[in-house]
Amino acid sequence: MLKLSEFWSARAHSEDFTLTRMGFMTVRLRLLTCLLMIGIPAWGLVDWLTLSQEQFSQLLKARAFCLLALSPLIPLSYLIHFRRERMKLALGYLMTVMMIFSLFCLASFDAGQELQAGYWAFPYLLISLFAIFPVPLSLSLQLAACIMVAMLGGNWLLLGQPLWSAATLDQLWLLTLFALASAWVQCGQLNMLLQLYRESTRDELTGMMNRRLLMKQLAQSRARFLYQQKPFALLLLDLDRFKRINDHYGHLAGDAVLKEVAACLAEQLETGMVLGRYGGEEFAVLLPDCGSGEQASGVAERLRLAVEARLIKSPTSDELLEVTVSIGVALMQSAESAESLLSRADERLYQAKVAGRNCVVGERGSPDRSVA
Ligand code: GH3
Ligand code: MG
Ligand code: MG
Repeated sequence: MLKLSEFWSARAHSEDFTLTRMGFMTVRLRLLTCLLMIGIPAWGLVDWLTLSQEQFSQLLKARAFCLLALSPLIPLSYLIHFRRERMKLALGYLMTVMMIFSLFCLASFDAGQELQAGYWAFPYLLISLFAIFPVPLSLSLQLAACIMVAMLGGNWLLLGQPLWSAATLDQLWLLTLFALASAWVQCGQLNMLLQLYRESTRDELTGMMNRRLLMKQLAQSRARFLYQQKPFALLLLDLDRFKRINDHYGHLAGDAVLKEVAACLAEQLETGMVLGRYGGEEFAVLLPDCGSGEQASGVAERLRLAVEARLIKSPTSDELLEVTVSIGVALMQSAESAESLLSRADERLYQAKVAGRNCVVGERGSPDRSVA
């Protein structure tokens, strides 16, 4: 279920979704900059055909300025590095350059001279072009407000159009209509992106993150370990004798158990911990800032006890089902690959099964049922 706050501000988005969105936006920023860098000089041809030689050369200078000012955006876009604040700066810069260009063009027209369609429509065109970015409503309105202020201020200062006049009101409502249409398209894109992101990263049954996102989170934790020396631990959890539940009570009951165990584990999580469904009846937890085997085994034991204490009502009968988990724990070690960490945790999970299930096997390699 999408929330209104997600359409209003990007602060309501997850870090990983923001990374994905910034990836899209960076490509579109480059594309728009390239199109403008082609379109703005090409538009000079219309000036050459329709305006005086003097005005044409004046506007040519404005086009050259625009081209020069836009060109750093292409290399600089590679430095955005998926950061939201940097993207905001880049969009603000693009808009500022285009509005300066528009105001300079306006200033080149004499008081009595009729404005060409391309020039008076420039702010509306700009607002429409920004519709290609999947930005939340708050940023969309900020951009529209900046264009509005620049356009009305420019018309007032450069063309002598009174701030309170029928022409100003006319421009204001037209720009508002364009801004609303643009915001609608932007929100539509954001909505589509959020839905696609959710479908590709959420596990349908339990609602928690799926293996794909889990592996991405593991790779990020590994990168933080390698480059910022931030330790972390991985827990692999497997439900014990889960097949029996399916066989005795049916798959519906099995599904209900999986959902309830997922909810039970989620209740136990602390800030920063990451929980996902690793496979059929297997879950994984990433523990950030965890550099000691005892600490990791302590959390694992807490999770094991919480699942053990949970009684789950079967949807196919009135019985209360009991379920337990076995857990393998592994601390990230210097420069090992994600696969090696996973395989160590899996090995310990196997040891926990061999040791009789419903237990934790940590760094010490022996099962422990009461570490916490
Ligand atoms: P062990 O204690 O050794 O882990 O035994 P187990 O029975 O839990 O393990 P096994 O690998 O034999 O069986 C896992 C079962 O989980 C088999 C599969 O049908 C079931 N399963 C996997 N995904 C789902 C699911 O989404 N829903 C349901 N109902 N069952 C699932
Ligand atoms: Mg299994
Ligand atoms: Mg199992």
